Amino acid sequence: MATRSEQLFAEAQKYIPGGVNSSVRAFKPVGGTPLFMERGEGSRIWDADGKEYIDYVGSWGPLILGHAAPEVVTAIQETVARGTSFGTPTELETEMARLITEMVPSVDKVRMCNSGTEATMSALRLARGYTNRDKVVKFEGNYHGHVDSLLVKAGSGALSLGVPTSPGVPKDLAQHTHTLPYNDEDAATALFEDIGREVAAVIVEPVAGNMGCVPPEPGFLQTLRELCDSFGAVLIFDEVMTGFRVAAGGAQEYYHVTPDLTCLGKVIGGGMPVGAFGGKKEIMAHLSPEGPVYQAGTLSGNPVAMIAGVTTLKALNNAHFHADLGERTARLAQGLVEAGTEAGVPLTENHVGAMFGVFFSDRPVRTFKDVADADANRFAQFFHGMLERGVYLAPSPFEAGFLSRAHSEADVDATLEAARDVLSGMA
Ligand code: PMP
Repeated sequence: MATRSEQLFAEAQKYIPGGVNSSVRAFKPVGGTPLFMERGEGSRIWDADGKEYIDYVGSWGPLILGHAAPEVVTAIQETVARGTSFGTPTELETEMARLITEMVPSVDKVRMCNSGTEATMSALRLARGYTNRDKVVKFEGNYHGHVDSLLVKAGSGALSLGVPTSPGVPKDLAQHTHTLPYNDEDAATALFEDIGREVAAVIVEPVAGNMGCVPPEPGFLQTLRELCDSFGAVLIFDEVMTGFRVAAGGAQEYYHVTPDLTCLGKVIGGGMPVGAFGGKKEIMAHLSPEGPVYQAGTLSGNPVAMIAGVTTLKALNNAHFHADLGERTARLAQGLVEAGTEAGVPLTENHVGAMFGVFFSDRPVRTFKDVADADANRFAQFFHGMLERGVYLAPSPFEAGFLSRAHSEADVDATLEAARDVLSGMA
């Protein structure tokens, strides 16, 4: 008998390409049928067949307070009853902007948009308009949304589906994108010595989260800062994933490196579709209507999304939040490695704040090549074993995992117990 998820997926495929509205949901890298979810509460989600899971995806990052966080749900309900969108300025947008500038000090001014993709697309245009240069530098295995200029050697779903450089991106555009190995300072220095004066921007995930979780090597982000300063390029931190997750002030606070522009998304919307980009006053002044670089959005800054985001940011804006969450994340990631060791299955992990990645590899994972060399078949086996035991991990070896405020020590214990069981069967 087909499960309800299998039936729903069959029906969805008739009307939706691949049956999903975001490629990463399709279970392609691990095989099988994507589960259709019906409900979430705290650390738990329930699928269409009524099965319960501890969720480490959290809608791919936004739900740092857990599913259906009570204060977010109440705030949305109160706000939505007064209207969903006006297409005029509202006071909430200023509250959001003020909160962001306080929490992320490198951001003097910020523009709200509707997704991480919009944020990186617009930040790139702004950097190009500001510098009057065309070239952008990105890093292999980093993903910045499905922006034409940035879908070149990209991570996440593009990587798992084997199309890191997508058809449909004009060669004329892709030629302006230079891709470097992540965590390779020398390669960055060499490129800048060659074409540094033509580079509008360097865009980087300050912790790579779209090829598992790969932290920056000591000095890597600092070197990018120095190269951008020396050659007059704009340094863009894509903190769509790391923002408000690895620390209240994002990876820039965690690593003490200050970018010129920052892209935000995920957590900032508290589960609603939100993105934002902001940074130095003198660069942001080039954005329309203050300056000539055009940008707009019908639903940008709408009150429902703003209240969800503002409520979320206020809840996490205290000294204990990230320390507690970071400790639980570390215990989980290290516990998974120990479980692997006990079972004789080599595993390695990385974690920063409330994001983590585990790799079926017997050595540290620091570069895209290390990620690519890890055993993807073993990951698929592990994924399905955990799923059976009620633990929902991202359905790809190239994605980070996320904890939320709602994940308890007992959740971590239950997850580790499931992992010991699965791994001992894999040895
Ligand atoms: N940048 C990063 C670092 C991301 O992780 C993502 C999404 N996973 C994006 C940009 C794109 O965001 P969105 O899916 O909201 O367009």
